[in-house]
Amino acid sequence: MQAIQVLNIKWDSLKNRYFPWGVDVDVLRLDAIHPFISGNKWFKLSGYLQEAVYQSKKKLLTFGGPYSNHILSTAAACHEANLSSIGIIRGEKPTSLSDTLVNAKNLGMQLFFTSREAYRTKQIPEDVWKQHAEEEVYRVEEGGYGQRGAEGASRILSLMDTQKYTHILLAVGTGTTVAGLVSAALPHQQVTGVCVLKNEPGIESEIKALLAKPFPFTLLHNYHFGGYAKKTAHLLQFMNDWFKSTGIPSDFVYTGKLFYAADDLIRTGKIKKGSSVLLIHTGGLQGNHSLPKGTLIF
Ligand SMILES: *Cc1c(COP(=O)(O)O)cnc(C)c1O
Repeated sequence: MQAIQVLNIKWDSLKNRYFPWGVDVDVLRLDAIHPFISGNKWFKLSGYLQEAVYQSKKKLLTFGGPYSNHILSTAAACHEANLSSIGIIRGEKPTSLSDTLVNAKNLGMQLFFTSREAYRTKQIPEDVWKQHAEEEVYRVEEGGYGQRGAEGASRILSLMDTQKYTHILLAVGTGTTVAGLVSAALPHQQVTGVCVLKNEPGIESEIKALLAKPFPFTLLHNYHFGGYAKKTAHLLQFMNDWFKSTGIPSDFVYTGKLFYAADDLIRTGKIKKGSSVLLIHTGGLQGNHSLPKGTLIF
Protein backbone atom coordinates (compact mmCIF):
# COMPACT_ATOMS: atom_id res chain seq x y z
CA MET A 1 0.00 0.00 0.00
CA GLN A 2 1.33 3.38 -0.94
CA ALA A 3 -1.15 5.95 0.29
CA ILE A 4 1.21 8.87 -0.19
CA GLN A 5 3.77 9.40 -2.87
CA VAL A 6 6.95 11.11 -1.85
CA LEU A 7 6.84 13.85 -4.42
CA ASN A 8 8.49 16.79 -2.93
CA ILE A 9 11.99 15.94 -1.80
CA LYS A 10 13.92 19.17 -1.60
CA TRP A 11 17.65 19.35 -1.28
CA ASP A 12 19.20 22.48 0.00
CA SER A 13 22.85 22.80 -0.51
CA LEU A 14 24.48 24.84 2.19
CA LYS A 15 27.73 25.32 0.34
CA ASN A 16 28.25 28.97 1.17
CA ARG A 17 27.52 28.53 4.84
CA TYR A 18 30.03 25.73 5.34
CA PHE A 19 32.52 26.61 2.61
CA PRO A 20 35.11 27.96 5.07
CA TRP A 21 35.03 24.65 6.97
CA GLY A 22 35.35 22.51 3.85
CA VAL A 23 32.28 20.44 4.67
CA ASP A 24 29.46 19.68 2.23
CA VAL A 25 26.01 19.73 3.78
CA ASP A 26 22.64 18.78 2.30
CA VAL A 27 19.26 18.74 3.99
CA LEU A 28 16.72 16.12 3.04
CA ARG A 29 13.46 18.02 3.29
CA LEU A 30 11.04 15.38 4.54
CA ASP A 31 9.10 18.28 6.05
CA ALA A 32 7.88 19.03 2.53
CA ILE A 33 6.24 15.70 1.72
CA HIS A 34 2.82 16.48 3.18
CA PRO A 35 1.10 19.36 4.99
CA PHE A 36 0.10 17.25 8.02
CA ILE A 37 2.15 14.06 7.95
CA SER A 38 5.34 15.19 9.51
CA GLY A 39 8.42 13.96 7.63
CA ASN A 40 9.65 10.80 9.26
CA LYS A 41 6.22 9.95 10.69
CA TRP A 42 4.91 8.84 7.32
CA PHE A 43 7.74 6.35 6.91
CA LYS A 44 7.28 4.94 10.41
CA LEU A 45 3.51 4.75 10.04
CA SER A 46 3.70 3.05 6.66
CA GLY A 47 5.11 -0.03 8.42
CA TYR A 48 2.17 -0.12 10.85
CA LEU A 49 -0.50 0.68 8.25
CA GLN A 50 0.73 -2.18 6.13
CA GLU A 51 0.48 -4.61 9.03
CA ALA A 52 -2.93 -3.28 10.10
CA VAL A 53 -4.32 -3.79 6.61
CA TYR A 54 -2.71 -7.24 6.41
CA GLN A 55 -4.44 -8.17 9.68
CA SER A 56 -7.77 -6.78 8.36
CA LYS A 57 -7.93 -4.18 11.15
CA LYS A 58 -10.29 -1.27 10.57
CA LYS A 59 -8.93 1.20 13.11
CA LEU A 60 -5.60 2.46 14.36
CA LEU A 61 -5.26 3.54 17.98
CA THR A 62 -2.33 5.51 19.32
CA PHE A 63 -1.17 7.90 22.05
CA GLY A 64 0.16 11.44 22.26
CA GLY A 65 0.14 14.87 23.87
CA PRO A 66 -1.94 17.85 22.67
CA TYR A 67 0.82 19.05 20.26
CA SER A 68 1.97 15.63 19.13
CA ASN A 69 3.25 15.34 15.55
CA HIS A 70 2.61 11.62 15.81
CA ILE A 71 -1.10 12.12 16.62
CA LEU A 72 -1.68 14.46 13.69
CA SER A 73 0.37 12.29 11.33
CA THR A 74 -1.58 9.19 12.36
CA ALA A 75 -4.89 10.97 11.79
CA ALA A 76 -3.78 12.12 8.33
CA ALA A 77 -2.22 8.80 7.28
CA CYS A 78 -5.35 6.87 8.35
CA HIS A 79 -7.49 9.38 6.50
CA GLU A 80 -5.49 8.74 3.32
CA ALA A 81 -5.56 4.96 3.85
CA ASN A 82 -9.31 4.81 4.62
CA LEU A 83 -8.82 3.54 8.16
CA SER A 84 -10.46 5.01 11.26
CA SER A 85 -8.18 6.52 13.87
CA ILE A 86 -8.44 6.80 17.64
CA GLY A 87 -6.19 9.12 19.65
CA ILE A 88 -5.60 8.71 23.39
CA ILE A 89 -4.58 12.20 24.46
CA ARG A 90 -2.54 13.03 27.58
CA GLY A 91 -4.38 15.21 30.13
CA GLU A 92 -7.95 16.28 30.80
CA LYS A 93 -9.97 17.70 27.93
CA PRO A 94 -9.09 21.42 27.61
CA THR A 95 -11.72 24.11 27.04
CA SER A 96 -10.22 24.85 23.66
CA LEU A 97 -8.36 22.29 21.60
CA SER A 98 -4.84 22.90 20.28
CA ASP A 99 -4.43 23.41 16.51
CA THR A 100 -2.91 19.93 16.37
CA LEU A 101 -5.99 18.32 17.88
CA VAL A 102 -8.43 20.42 15.83
CA ASN A 103 -6.65 19.26 12.67
CA ALA A 104 -6.55 15.63 13.84
CA LYS A 105 -10.26 15.76 14.61
CA ASN A 106 -11.04 17.29 11.22
CA LEU A 107 -9.20 14.38 9.64
CA GLY A 108 -11.60 12.02 11.39
CA MET A 109 -9.63 11.05 14.49
CA GLN A 110 -11.75 10.27 17.52
CA LEU A 111 -10.11 11.79 20.61
CA PHE A 112 -10.20 10.37 24.14
CA PHE A 113 -8.64 12.40 26.93
CA THR A 114 -7.06 10.66 29.87
CA SER A 115 -5.44 11.74 33.14
CA ARG A 116 -1.68 12.09 33.19
CA GLU A 117 -1.47 9.15 35.61
CA ALA A 118 -3.46 6.82 33.39
CA TYR A 119 -1.54 8.09 30.36
CA ARG A 120 1.79 7.23 31.91
CA THR A 121 0.96 3.52 31.91
CA LYS A 122 -0.76 3.76 28.48
CA GLN A 123 -4.06 2.46 29.81
CA ILE A 124 -6.81 2.63 27.26
CA PRO A 125 -9.89 4.38 28.72
CA GLU A 126 -12.92 2.09 29.15
CA ASP A 127 -15.00 4.41 26.99
CA VAL A 128 -12.94 3.29 24.00
CA TRP A 129 -14.02 -0.33 24.39
CA LYS A 130 -17.65 0.71 24.82
CA GLN A 131 -17.52 2.10 21.29
CA HIS A 132 -15.00 -0.09 19.47
CA ALA A 133 -14.55 -3.84 19.17
CA GLU A 134 -11.09 -4.81 20.35
CA GLU A 135 -10.43 -7.13 17.41
CA GLU A 136 -10.89 -4.25 14.93
CA VAL A 137 -8.27 -2.08 16.56
CA TYR A 138 -4.54 -2.02 15.75
CA ARG A 139 -2.43 -0.42 18.46
CA VAL A 140 0.57 1.78 17.64
CA GLU A 141 2.81 2.75 20.55
CA GLU A 142 3.42 6.35 21.59
CA GLY A 143 5.60 8.13 19.04
CA GLY A 144 5.36 5.11 16.73
CA TYR A 145 8.07 3.22 18.60
CA GLY A 146 8.65 -0.32 17.32
CA GLN A 147 10.17 -2.65 14.77
CA ARG A 148 7.62 -2.05 12.01
CA GLY A 149 8.24 1.65 12.38
CA ALA A 150 11.99 1.19 12.08
CA GLU A 151 11.50 -0.94 8.96
CA GLY A 152 9.36 1.81 7.46
CA ALA A 153 11.97 4.45 8.37
CA SER A 154 14.77 2.44 6.77
CA ARG A 155 13.22 3.34 3.39
CA ILE A 156 14.19 6.98 3.87
CA LEU A 157 17.73 6.34 2.64
CA SER A 158 16.54 4.67 -0.55
CA LEU A 159 14.55 7.74 -1.65
CA MET A 160 17.62 8.84 -3.61
CA ASP A 161 21.29 8.10 -4.02
CA THR A 162 22.81 8.74 -0.61
CA GLN A 163 26.11 6.91 -1.11
CA LYS A 164 28.31 9.99 -1.13
CA TYR A 165 27.50 10.98 2.44
CA THR A 166 30.00 10.22 5.18
CA HIS A 167 27.73 11.47 7.97
CA ILE A 168 23.97 11.24 8.46
CA LEU A 169 22.43 13.21 11.31
CA LEU A 170 18.90 13.36 12.65
CA ALA A 171 16.91 14.21 15.77
CA VAL A 172 15.98 11.36 18.12
CA GLY A 173 12.77 10.99 20.12
CA THR A 174 11.78 7.34 20.54
CA GLY A 175 14.79 6.31 18.42
CA THR A 176 12.68 4.40 15.89
CA THR A 177 13.75 6.50 12.91
CA VAL A 178 17.44 6.42 13.78
CA ALA A 179 17.19 2.61 14.16
CA GLY A 180 15.80 2.38 10.63
CA LEU A 181 18.56 4.59 9.22
CA VAL A 182 21.30 2.75 11.09
CA SER A 183 20.17 -0.54 9.58
CA ALA A 184 20.06 0.95 6.07
CA ALA A 185 23.28 2.99 6.17
CA LEU A 186 26.43 1.89 4.33
CA PRO A 187 29.57 0.82 6.24
CA HIS A 188 31.39 4.11 5.51
CA GLN A 189 28.52 6.22 6.87
CA GLN A 190 28.41 7.41 10.45
CA VAL A 191 24.84 7.81 11.70
CA THR A 192 24.48 10.28 14.58
CA GLY A 193 21.31 10.87 16.56
CA VAL A 194 20.78 14.16 18.39
CA CYS A 195 18.70 13.29 21.47
CA VAL A 196 16.01 15.84 22.30
CA LEU A 197 15.15 14.32 25.67
CA LYS A 198 17.21 14.83 28.81
CA ASN A 199 18.32 12.05 31.18
CA GLU A 200 17.36 9.18 29.02
CA PRO A 201 19.78 6.39 29.89
CA GLY A 202 17.54 3.76 28.29
CA ILE A 203 17.44 5.23 24.80
CA GLU A 204 20.52 3.42 23.51
CA SER A 205 19.17 -0.02 24.44
CA GLU A 206 15.73 0.91 23.09
CA ILE A 207 17.34 1.63 19.73
CA LYS A 208 19.45 -1.54 19.88
CA ALA A 209 16.28 -3.54 20.57
CA LEU A 210 15.02 -2.49 17.13
CA LEU A 211 18.16 -3.58 15.29
CA ALA A 212 18.57 -7.04 13.79
CA LYS A 213 22.36 -6.79 14.16
CA PRO A 214 24.63 -4.66 16.39
CA PHE A 215 25.16 -1.91 13.81
CA PRO A 216 27.24 1.03 15.09
CA PHE A 217 25.70 4.46 15.76
CA THR A 218 26.41 7.54 17.85
CA LEU A 219 24.06 9.45 20.15
CA LEU A 220 24.63 13.01 21.33
CA HIS A 221 23.09 13.99 24.67
CA ASN A 222 24.27 17.59 24.98
CA TYR A 223 21.88 19.39 22.61
CA HIS A 224 18.52 18.93 24.36
CA PHE A 225 18.31 22.56 25.60
CA GLY A 226 16.77 21.50 28.91
CA GLY A 227 14.72 18.52 27.74
CA TYR A 228 11.79 17.49 25.62
CA ALA A 229 9.96 20.50 24.13
CA LYS A 230 12.17 22.82 26.22
CA LYS A 231 13.80 25.77 24.53
CA THR A 232 16.02 28.74 25.26
CA ALA A 233 16.19 32.22 23.72
CA HIS A 234 19.52 31.13 22.24
CA LEU A 235 17.91 28.19 20.40
CA LEU A 236 15.08 30.33 19.03
CA GLN A 237 17.62 32.95 17.89
CA PHE A 238 19.61 30.22 16.14
CA MET A 239 16.47 28.94 14.38
CA ASN A 240 15.73 32.44 13.09
CA ASP A 241 19.34 32.96 11.97
CA TRP A 242 19.41 29.53 10.30
CA PHE A 243 16.24 30.41 8.42
CA LYS A 244 17.67 33.77 7.32
CA SER A 245 20.82 32.22 5.92
CA THR A 246 19.44 28.94 4.52
CA GLY A 247 15.72 29.49 3.93
CA ILE A 248 15.03 26.30 5.88
CA PRO A 249 12.40 26.45 8.66
CA SER A 250 12.81 24.22 11.71
CA ASP A 251 10.78 23.30 14.79
CA PHE A 252 11.89 23.95 18.36
CA VAL A 253 11.30 20.37 19.60
CA TYR A 254 13.39 18.38 17.12
CA THR A 255 14.92 19.89 14.01
CA GLY A 256 16.03 23.20 15.54
CA LYS A 257 18.16 21.14 17.95
CA LEU A 258 19.44 18.98 15.09
CA PHE A 259 20.56 21.94 12.99
CA TYR A 260 22.10 23.61 16.03
CA ALA A 261 24.08 20.45 16.79
CA ALA A 262 25.23 20.02 13.19
CA ASP A 263 26.31 23.66 12.99
CA ASP A 264 28.26 23.31 16.22
CA LEU A 265 29.94 20.03 15.19
CA ILE A 266 31.07 21.51 11.88
CA ARG A 267 32.30 24.83 13.27
CA THR A 268 34.28 23.14 16.05
CA GLY A 269 35.88 20.67 13.63
CA LYS A 270 34.26 17.60 15.21
CA ILE A 271 32.93 16.87 11.74
CA LYS A 272 36.14 17.06 9.74
CA LYS A 273 37.03 18.94 6.58
CA GLY A 274 36.19 16.90 3.49
CA SER A 275 33.13 15.30 5.10
CA SER A 276 29.85 15.14 3.26
CA VAL A 277 26.91 15.52 5.61
CA LEU A 278 23.24 14.65 5.16
CA LEU A 279 20.84 16.24 7.64
CA ILE A 280 17.39 14.66 7.76
CA HIS A 281 14.68 17.29 8.18
CA THR A 282 12.08 15.16 9.95
CA GLY A 283 9.36 17.83 9.79
CA GLY A 284 7.41 18.80 12.91
CA LEU A 285 6.85 22.42 11.90
CA GLN A 286 3.23 22.36 13.06
CA GLY A 287 4.50 22.11 16.65
CA ASN A 288 5.69 25.74 16.41
CA HIS A 289 2.03 26.78 16.73
CA SER A 290 2.39 26.35 20.47
CA LEU A 291 4.85 29.30 20.57
CA PRO A 292 3.66 32.88 21.08
CA LYS A 293 3.05 34.62 17.75
CA GLY A 294 6.09 36.45 16.43
CA THR A 295 8.65 34.25 18.21
CA LEU A 296 9.85 32.89 14.89
CA ILE A 297 10.23 34.83 11.67
CA PHE A 298 8.88 31.99 9.49
C1 LIG B 1 8.73 12.26 16.03
C2 LIG B 1 9.77 13.14 15.50
C3 LIG B 1 11.14 12.82 15.60
C4 LIG B 1 11.63 11.64 16.36
O1 LIG B 1 11.48 10.41 15.71
P1 LIG B 1 11.73 9.08 16.51
O2 LIG B 1 11.56 8.01 15.50
O3 LIG B 1 10.66 9.00 17.58
O4 LIG B 1 13.07 9.13 17.12
C5 LIG B 1 12.05 13.67 15.02
N1 LIG B 1 11.66 14.79 14.38
C6 LIG B 1 10.38 15.13 14.29
C7 LIG B 1 10.02 16.40 13.63
C8 LIG B 1 9.38 14.33 14.84
O5 LIG B 1 8.09 14.71 14.74
